[in-house]
Amino acid sequence: MVKLSVLLLEGGKIINGVDDYPLDGYNLLLKGCTIEKLLKSSESVPADVEKIDVSGMIVMPGLIDAHLHLAFSASISPELNPIRRAINRFTALHSSYALGAYVNGMKCIESGFTTVRDCGSPGDSVIALRDAINSGWLNGPRILVGGTITSTMGHFDENWPVTLPRPHAKYVADGVDQIRKAVRERAREQVDFVKTSTSDSWSTTRSRSWWRCYTIEELKALTDEAHAFDLPISSHAYDAVPSVKNAVLAGVDNIDHGIYLNEEVVELMSERGTTLVPTLSVIKIIYLQGEKARDTNPYRIPDIVCKAKKTWESHQKSVKMALKASVKVGSGTDATGNYGLHGNYAYELELLSDLGMKPMDVLKTATKVNSEILGLEDKIGTIEPGKAADLIIIDGDPTQDVRILQEKSKIKLVMIGGKIVVNKIG
Ligand SMILES: [Zn+2]
Repeated sequence: MVKLSVLLLEGGKIINGVDDYPLDGYNLLLKGCTIEKLLKSSESVPADVEKIDVSGMIVMPGLIDAHLHLAFSASISPELNPIRRAINRFTALHSSYALGAYVNGMKCIESGFTTVRDCGSPGDSVIALRDAINSGWLNGPRILVGGTITSTMGHFDENWPVTLPRPHAKYVADGVDQIRKAVRERAREQVDFVKTSTSDSWSTTRSRSWWRCYTIEELKALTDEAHAFDLPISSHAYDAVPSVKNAVLAGVDNIDHGIYLNEEVVELMSERGTTLVPTLSVIKIIYLQGEKARDTNPYRIPDIVCKAKKTWESHQKSVKMALKASVKVGSGTDATGNYGLHGNYAYELELLSDLGMKPMDVLKTATKVNSEILGLEDKIGTIEPGKAADLIIIDGDPTQDVRILQEKSKIKLVMIGGKIVVNKIG
């Protein structure tokens, strides 16, 4: 019989993701890939246990980013002109995207993010990376892969040049029958969840956030088919009506962004248990760019400065409204290649904190709550016996100031399933 390694993290304070304060006076015992138990520091430990001294540091669950795009990286799609970008995206090898996703995956673990939800990347690039990491070939975060499905002219289709064939043609689905087939194709590819859009956006020249994309009948078919394969469904949605409301009524599990929520839909989300993953980071960065955003926006939107201000103000208001209505609110950056967010995933936590959330509640969005949104609450998200040993050790206390998580030099050790993937303790 193979003897499992036993490891004791000794002397630090523990944020377990459940309690509202860090636990002091405990050591954490790990066995193989799982958390065995918390021991009082006075309790004896097995004789052959290996120890790591984490005195003066914080041990907490690995962080989770519930919305990013691993395969999009500035180094792979440097062109800003939309036509050039489209051609590049059409001609780039999926294997190149997979390599870009690997590079960003390494940025995740160096930043203390041990699990991520990929909300759309080209082809099978992130499926390949997920499987390579799960097989132990490569280091990287746990990845949940989203398979996008869009209506013709939906958010994932609208900006594609009409003269070019669509690489995503298989997943452009209109009407109940096409939608059911597209979901089945995605299930066959072994995605972890379905990602759709029930509104357009503000981020291209012509897109409008109130465009509906799917009728409610189409959405019901989409959720019904996804759930038949145990696939959760998450929707990009901006306006309260029709997009968020229709998504919630049709049984979508999670709303991404939720920029323009209103009282009626947050109540509905709360009643139905629909979760929300805001993406404050990407909106704030564009807003902060001011006039410069005209040059950095890939689509050169003429009124981007005004739109960014409106979007940023409304997004903050919507998140507060959702929290007040007891909607389950997670956290995600929407990191792509465009705004330097890969590697700075903890910025989202600073922005949630700026909205008035207590630091411990902010930390829970990126641990316990995100694990629930991802459907992985039995496995990760808190430090409890039997859960996977996904842990980070920080030289400093994020319950005093969550911004410490943006300082990579303070993230001393990162462990995924008991495997140490970053170690600056020695
Ligand atoms: Zn996104």
